[in-house]
Amino acid sequence: MQCPICDYPNAQPHYRMKDRFFAVSSEEFELYRCSSCGILFQQEEEIRERLADFYPPGYWWQASGRLSSLEAVYREWIVRHDQLGFVTSLLSESRGERLLDIGCGNGTFVQLAHGAGLDAYGLEQSQEAVEVAEQQVPGRIFHGIEQDLVERKEQFDIITLFHCLEHLTSPFLYLKNLQKLLRGPGKLVVQVPNVHSLQAKLFGSRWYGLDCPRHVYNYSTTSLIHLLERAGFRIHRVRHFSLRDNAAALVSSLFPILDPMSQRVKLLREKGKRHSLGLSIREVLYLPLFVLAQPLALLEAILGRGATVTVFATMD
Ligand SMILES: [Zn+2]
Repeated sequence: MQCPICDYPNAQPHYRMKDRFFAVSSEEFELYRCSSCGILFQQEEEIRERLADFYPPGYWWQASGRLSSLEAVYREWIVRHDQLGFVTSLLSESRGERLLDIGCGNGTFVQLAHGAGLDAYGLEQSQEAVEVAEQQVPGRIFHGIEQDLVERKEQFDIITLFHCLEHLTSPFLYLKNLQKLLRGPGKLVVQVPNVHSLQAKLFGSRWYGLDCPRHVYNYSTTSLIHLLERAGFRIHRVRHFSLRDNAAALVSSLFPILDPMSQRVKLLREKGKRHSLGLSIREVLYLPLFVLAQPLALLEAILGRGATVTVFATMD
């Protein structure tokens, strides 16, 4: 099969796997690997029409459970120092630039970016996430897809895609469309799980970062850079460490039962069921493991094989 990212003609079946974390479907999904650019992908035509059905209610982060206020404060601190810190380090003066965060979830990043002086907005498809985000940053959340903003002739100086591109079909056409929303040098920040990371190699089809079947494309650093350059972007910076995501992927791969988001989705699914003692114990266990995993996550990143890859690129 031809690789949809680099056109290498001989991509091979690599994994057959089920939805391990959210169990939205009991079927097996086939993932193909391109040995040239390293991408691991599903055939778009097999899943394009059904992709929306694979997202369970609650598939976006929101503090929940007995530790919710502590979790919210902790999460905000991490997003401020991790994602926002990366974005503001790219700007000569972080005042007034118009930013769009695509797949903004509950709007934490938009709120923090706005607080840091950016003219920040979010775009989100999930109605339930939009309702929560609107409460955090009223008037700054668009509900819909990027084409809605293209038709409205909206323009932004910088667009961020944190853990979004891997969920999309036709990523090349998507990136070309985003260029219609960018003005000036057109800054773009993309963060995706790195299928070439050490933990991805270690856990194989059991790696949390694959999130099958919601990830259509699981990028390696090489394949992401190739895609961005092919779409006309110039790469300026590549980073492999994420304080928020890398250690979390390691802990959730080792102990799937502790993963906070799948726990939350499960609780939503079992409406009426009370927050059990077992769940509270799991919540308490997760945080120290997450902290303990940080040195390993940092080591991976130093070796250039971190669990995420974040790229800063521009149109010029
Ligand atoms: Zn390829």
